[in-house]
Amino acid sequence: ELAFLKQETPYRWRIDLGFVPQMRVPGHVYVNEALQPLLWSELRQFAGSSSTSGFLPALKQIANVAALPGIVGHSIGLPDAHSGYGFAIGNVAAFDMDDPDAVVSPGGVGFDINCGVRLLRTNLTEAAVADRREALAQSLFDHIPVGVGSQGVIPSSSDSLQRALELGMDWSVREGYAWAEDKEHCEESGRMLTASPASVSARAKKRGVRPLLDRATRGPSKSPRRPVPDARSPPLAGLPQLGTLGAGNHYAEIQVVDRIFDKRAAAQMGLDFEGQESGGRACLSPPASPPLTRRPSAQAHRTTHHDHTRVTRNHGDATRESTRKTTLRTSRVATDALLQMERAMGRDDIRVNDRQLACARIGSAEGKQYLQAMAAAANYAWAFARTFGATPDDLEMGVVYDVSHNIAKAPLLVHRKGSTRAFPPHHPLIPLDYQFTGQPVLIGGTMGTCSYVLTGTEKGMADTWGSTCHGAGRAKSRAGSRRQLDYTEVLEALQQKGISIRVASPKLVMEESPESYKDVTEVVDTCHAAGISSKCVKLRPIAVIKG
Ligand code: 5GP
Ligand code: MN
Ligand code: MN
Repeated sequence: ELAFLKQETPYRWRIDLGFVPQMRVPGHVYVNEALQPLLWSELRQFAGSSSTSGFLPALKQIANVAALPGIVGHSIGLPDAHSGYGFAIGNVAAFDMDDPDAVVSPGGVGFDINCGVRLLRTNLTEAAVADRREALAQSLFDHIPVGVGSQGVIPSSSDSLQRALELGMDWSVREGYAWAEDKEHCEESGRMLTASPASVSARAKKRGVRPLLDRATRGPSKSPRRPVPDARSPPLAGLPQLGTLGAGNHYAEIQVVDRIFDKRAAAQMGLDFEGQESGGRACLSPPASPPLTRRPSAQAHRTTHHDHTRVTRNHGDATRESTRKTTLRTSRVATDALLQMERAMGRDDIRVNDRQLACARIGSAEGKQYLQAMAAAANYAWAFARTFGATPDDLEMGVVYDVSHNIAKAPLLVHRKGSTRAFPPHHPLIPLDYQFTGQPVLIGGTMGTCSYVLTGTEKGMADTWGSTCHGAGRAKSRAGSRRQLDYTEVLEALQQKGISIRVASPKLVMEESPESYKDVTEVVDTCHAAGISSKCVKLRPIAVIKG
């Protein structure tokens, strides 16, 4: 079996045809020497025993994707790849939309449709925020609904849900939750025009809406969340997800600029600090779900935290803020599609190596419906809204960029699962502000290490359909982390690094520890060395909240 794996460069391996049955194209797996053993040992363990998680090893998954009808070029494994449902997380594949047999597969997009990351910058310095980091972490935790069952803050009705599904970020702008220029800095300008809310099942919609209604009538909770890292809040039924962080690894983080690799691109993103060679500048990085928007809205949300952060530009430095977009729980869309597709596969005689790779022809009713529902779910994710600070203007809190992790796009239908779009300079689909630098690519590391901003390259466009890594990628299963790691030790290590944290669920301390992930620097260095994206800025966390 290992004979089918051939090293082509120090940063890329090829999976030859024959590694699994029916491969139509080879695999390309981007790993360096440090990352390679993890993927290979997963394969060996799998061969030696029965399955670990119910998922095949990532290398097998990448190869099975290479056997799907209509795939072109290569099935691509990125350096953060690890096994997932059907496709590996960190697996990119393009399908020829002119090929009538070509398919779309929900397993290639993931359950968190349009999960992504947003980075906001501020003009604050590390010095201005570092000794307030405990208060900042608490304030983020109090103001951003976090965790399973958390409630969003935007009053809504099924009517406005419908509009949000259709309009995406245009809805947020219209409702006053975002500035128009924020939109320009989002992938697809924050709106997928192909969205058809009618393709989203009533059941999926209900998950989005009911809590919003509850919230609207009850108003925001008065009791602050418990300040300790293990604050537990009981899951509620019915999840309103607009304007919530979500659960699991979704995070909001305050980060400082730690190192600049590409001064010109960093300057264009407002992430350089002229005349400051060392030391950090502060940034804020909220991830998967928070609606960092600016409109100071409900009074109830105005509290302490802006007071600390009000610093003017005159001080000559900057802070940034990055956020991960609100990931609405769009999984229902994917689940609905899987059921329908299983039926369509029988009808159209589509065969796959792994049942998790359920798919439908792009042109079939099921394929079209999934793509429309996916677009609507993506719009919903963009329509996140919520007030973050009182006077975002004061903080010059601009959106650096907003990227998607789980999405499929035309005209080649590129499935980017656990992968970030990374378009090169001069690409027509990136904002004017970034025409000369390439698209900013936001890479989360872990709550205890660091994160990066990269830029897209021509080589990435040619070799990986304009895609690169999306994070560090898990190295341990969640259960493995819980077994092997100690709650107190993980917290102490974070404290020692000067990182304040709040989590909604205590088990996340182990599950999301730095040890549970690959080394993000190895991942990013591999992408940089392979040329599929280019290092721009390194960020380091000082305060983190997680679902
Ligand atoms: P995913 O999109 O697959 O849910 O997560 C993407 C990446 O985010 C993970 O591979 C991981 O490297 C990164 N990540 C997870 N938790 C955190 C966090 O708390 N802070 C930062 N900066 N990155 C994180
Ligand atoms: Mn993601
Ligand atoms: Mn996610």
